[in-house]
Amino acid sequence: MTQDASRLFGRGSSDILPGPAPGLADGEHRQVDGERRPVESFPHVASLMTCSACVRIARIADGGEPDFVATLSESHVILADEQAYRGYCILFLKDHREHVDELPRERQARLWEDVAQVAAAVRRELAPRRLNYACLGNFVTHVHWHVIPRQADDPEPQHPIWVRPLAERRVVLPEGERRQLVARLRRALTR
Ligand SMILES: [Zn+2]
Repeated sequence: MTQDASRLFGRGSSDILPGPAPGLADGEHRQVDGERRPVESFPHVASLMTCSACVRIARIADGGEPDFVATLSESHVILADEQAYRGYCILFLKDHREHVDELPRERQARLWEDVAQVAAAVRRELAPRRLNYACLGNFVTHVHWHVIPRQADDPEPQHPIWVRPLAERRVVLPEGERRQLVARLRRALTR
């Protein structure tokens, strides 16, 4: 994973760096039908080992992702690390796919419905001046959407958030505040 990917998705620690996926004691081979085969034979497993989004999804499945908000039709929603934009959420497609345009149109539509639900929840709870939507895939190739509330005090209101240095964007909320925000967004999404 690139440094930029780590900036987008990591908490600045090694827990998002490439490495054996949870539950994969042997990082290079798997025992199948009595035969050891390289993980490359299993695209899903290979992606788990190299994709920061898949690692995070595995952590959601294990109940160990503190920023997990909700699971929707096609995606898992988490609170982003960069809470300078309070309420900023990221939606990860449930499975490792790299090109949104190559998904069946029905899945693309359902994914957008998820994005719209998150946007409505963020609008309701944070009352942003504007909402930004982004689906890039340049660093983290796993299909994902950003839903970013922009408030009136935004120092760069006419630009995407990424023009600001990471140090300004990455704000870790105090534990209680983070939990409360996650709970509010979850309630708003499941109403
Ligand atoms: Zn992935």
